[in-house]
Amino acid sequence: MRSQDGWIVRVRPHGASVAVGQWRVLAELALAHAEPLIELTRLGNVQLRGVDEANLERVRSVLIDARLVPADADADLAPPVHCTPLYRRGDATHALASLLSRAVIERLSPAALARKGLEALPSKFGFVVDDAAHRLRCMNADIELWVAAHGQVALFAADCAEPVLWESAERAVDAAIEKALWFARERMLHAPALVRMRSLVHAKSAGTKLNEVGAPVPPGPLDQGAWMVGVPLGRIDAAAMLATTAAMPEHAEIRVTPWRSLWVSEAALAGGNPFSDAVHWITRDDDVRLRASSCIGAPRCEQARFAAQELSLEIAAHVPHGIHVHVTGCAKRCALSADATFVVGAEGVDDAGQTLLRVVRRGPREHAGPLVPYRELRARPQQIQKLIHDPHL
Ligand code: SF4
Repeated sequence: MRSQDGWIVRVRPHGASVAVGQWRVLAELALAHAEPLIELTRLGNVQLRGVDEANLERVRSVLIDARLVPADADADLAPPVHCTPLYRRGDATHALASLLSRAVIERLSPAALARKGLEALPSKFGFVVDDAAHRLRCMNADIELWVAAHGQVALFAADCAEPVLWESAERAVDAAIEKALWFARERMLHAPALVRMRSLVHAKSAGTKLNEVGAPVPPGPLDQGAWMVGVPLGRIDAAAMLATTAAMPEHAEIRVTPWRSLWVSEAALAGGNPFSDAVHWITRDDDVRLRASSCIGAPRCEQARFAAQELSLEIAAHVPHGIHVHVTGCAKRCALSADATFVVGAEGVDDAGQTLLRVVRRGPREHAGPLVPYRELRARPQQIQKLIHDPHL
């Protein structure tokens, strides 16, 4: 994908898993051929930004050699299968994600669909293999599967009212693929063709239990000797990643999450926890940087009206505990966090030509609050406290 500052090269880790050696490859590529950072996305992907056209093929070839992207471009274009990072290697959730990933490539890649006379599924269409707490519901996938009680597998499609239980992972995966094939046919009956399965939502689905979303896992120690480590704004400094992983075993896992954080395995931490550099990593759940987020903003996105990331970092220290403010560079709200309670975004200019920002309280019904000039909020970021407590919100 092209952006203002060059090509964005995306990696979709299988089972959310990236080995230490693969992180080093990503970091070295970022330092040599892209912006010196590795981005974590809200979809649990990893991406390099600012790659020159002249270096695209070289970067892709290194990623293929490192087994970070498939050599078969058709497989890379199959719908994504996002997976919770909270599984034990080889457990039922891991097996389900592996089975589904293989089936999706074999039966839903653009070439496989073309053989059935169907168009490729839209790029926004995707699957999730979740945990029982539904923490990945924030990703709004079209089809979700998770391991339920007694070894059964639950399947929930965004057009249905209730999940369906299957006796085995094989049958659940087969049902999920059939559901996607049905959508591939059904969407073409609409003009324009539907992009998401929820566009076919059954009226009964409102209010189902599945509308509950599990809370993100905050930074800190986990079971199995693992740690959750946050990444400010989801941007990993490539040099910091190289330094942090320098003494780690090559094959130890550091998984990605959709919460702009990393699940670091016990094996990776065997020599001690090297994530102590607080500039680049977040290891405490009371770190104020967790209270604000943003899209990429200016100058990297041509649609951005202001520097969203810088503003986000500046206001974070003034956002009260329990509140999350997302700063968006334009009305699209890319990378919006599911737990964001307020959104700050551009809305027009004043008589002097200054960008004005609007504070909006999120909820079933959004409430628009006061306007504030962008430069004024940059100069006095503590104003965010007053803005989010505005009586009109
Ligand atoms: S929300 Fe707008 S400014 Fe921000 S990354 Fe998306 S398109 Fe760009």
